[in-house]
Amino acid sequence: MKLTRFLSNLLSPPHCVFCGEPIDFRMPENVCAACERQLPYNNAKRCEICGCGLDIAYGKLCCRSCKNERPYFLKSISRYIYKDKVADSIRHMKFGSEQIWIAKTLGLLLAQTLREEYGDIEFHAVTYVPISKARIRERGFNQSQVLAQAICKQLGYKKPVALLEKPKDIPRQSSLKLRERKTNVIGAFSPANAHLAVDKTILLIDDVQTTGATLNECAKVLRKAGAAAVYCAVVASVQI
Ligand SMILES: [Zn+2]
Ligand SMILES: [Zn+2]
Repeated sequence: MKLTRFLSNLLSPPHCVFCGEPIDFRMPENVCAACERQLPYNNAKRCEICGCGLDIAYGKLCCRSCKNERPYFLKSISRYIYKDKVADSIRHMKFGSEQIWIAKTLGLLLAQTLREEYGDIEFHAVTYVPISKARIRERGFNQSQVLAQAICKQLGYKKPVALLEKPKDIPRQSSLKLRERKTNVIGAFSPANAHLAVDKTILLIDDVQTTGATLNECAKVLRKAGAAAVYCAVVASVQI
């Protein structure tokens, strides 16, 4: 679908968050029946720690990467695989007139997965992967913060707290080779309101997970600030 059509459809609710087509107002999640049938849910067998597509050789619990070096987070979950209409919707979330609405809607959808996967965990705080001040000026908002706000509202948690900062921009992860991503994020984040992390079980929200390097680095900063445990949740993960 052309972007202009997508955006003009977005201006006349209710419409599907994935394709922009009008939908029955009784569909509470803003997903049309056609998209719902085709959405790439991340429900295949996956690493129980990082959520990536499972390496069959280590198929019982975790992937080769988690087995070699346990991440700083205990678990990361994603609702979708990053492709097709899910990838389109996440790209549209970062620009255009309805970007906040898309972020809120994807947050509500991710909340369903959180309820299923993390329903028995008591989170003391919900936080999000920060973006730099320069990027906030450019985009107008941090999409991960809006996702986290929608999740907290939906699940009845206290509002998200800023526990991390990104003092300056680094080369975009998506512009780098997989191997370079891990070193690129080292030192990119610093703690904020660190006292609020001490001994807490924290839920960390982001939009997309690729290698998990960003989430791992954020979890490392939170653990070093004294967090007891960090769990992650993203809208979609890239299957690599
Ligand atoms: Zn649709
Ligand atoms: Zn893993």
